[in-house]
Amino acid sequence: MQPRPILWIVIPCYNEEQVLPITAPMFLNKINDLVKMEKISPSSRVLFVNDGSKDKTWQIICDLSKQDEHYIGISQSRNRGHQNAVLAGLMEAMNRCDITISIDCDGQDDINAMDAMVDEYWKGSEVVYGVRSKRATDTWFKRTTAEGFYKVMNALGAEVVFNHADYRLVSSRVLKHFADYEEVNIFLRGMFPLVGFKSTSVYYERAERLAGESHYPLRKMLALAFNGITSLSVKPITLIAGLGVFVSLLGVAAAIWAIVEAILGHTVAGWASIICIVCLLGGIQLISLGVIGQYIGKTYLETKRRPRYIISERTWEPTQRHWIEEEKQ
Ligand code: UDP
Ligand code: MG
Repeated sequence: MQPRPILWIVIPCYNEEQVLPITAPMFLNKINDLVKMEKISPSSRVLFVNDGSKDKTWQIICDLSKQDEHYIGISQSRNRGHQNAVLAGLMEAMNRCDITISIDCDGQDDINAMDAMVDEYWKGSEVVYGVRSKRATDTWFKRTTAEGFYKVMNALGAEVVFNHADYRLVSSRVLKHFADYEEVNIFLRGMFPLVGFKSTSVYYERAERLAGESHYPLRKMLALAFNGITSLSVKPITLIAGLGVFVSLLGVAAAIWAIVEAILGHTVAGWASIICIVCLLGGIQLISLGVIGQYIGKTYLETKRRPRYIISERTWEPTQRHWIEEEKQ
């Protein structure tokens, strides 16, 4: 039998003094249950990442870590946002565990879905996406904007799993490859599909926040969507180039029409020449912008220095294995 994996649950926390005392024991119970069922190792941990909270969150995390050895915490020097907090936690966990599960600390994501996630890992998946099957408890506005978000993202070339937020299981092997994605603008849920490896989804119902308030108002959601699109895709630039071609064709048609009108004598002097210049130049400018954009887009993708390939299987044991194992200890 495979050795039982060490699980680290990674939880970003920003001003969560109200909800943390309620949800922290839930995470610990889950670890204890999974250990009892012999699905994970007893050295598993609950890792809180304090994202520069201004309230007592860090104090609560410190107190928890004294209560039970399974609770541990790290604190960011200041508030950097949810995505960076999750990243910090995952990188902290990477060399110290076999699997990580990232989850919000407000109890909205069903903690019990972790059982199914760990089962899927045992069955061979290295990335397991938690997907919301229903959003009955979200307001109509939140639900519509959130679902629209996924549709717009996919339409603009950022591949994301529909209705998956940042509740997911990732093996440390995948994290080590993920660490080679050195970009600064991170959008985790769009980046893990790029890393590849066997993945699957488990479904759960999204509940209401147990306490405290959401930190994701529409403004932050729009910023996240914009960051997701621009950091994963150069499709908007291609759209500009396409628009340029379209406007140029219209311009040619308009120019022909203006010339015909001028010949038929329906116009005042000078009108046709101005219309021709305006229409054609507009199209040419947009095409030029699109072409320049393509080069900037390429430069942009190059500067990310993402890995060019990732090997998932070998028929032979790489010698590196020894130091990978050593690093883990
Ligand atoms: N969060 C964070 N830094 C921030 C904002 C939020 O670490 O700047 C954490 C927050 O503590 C929570 C998770 O990210 O655990 C999701 O935030 P929230 O529940 O407010 O978002 P929503 O579920 O409403 O989209
Ligand atoms: Mg929430």
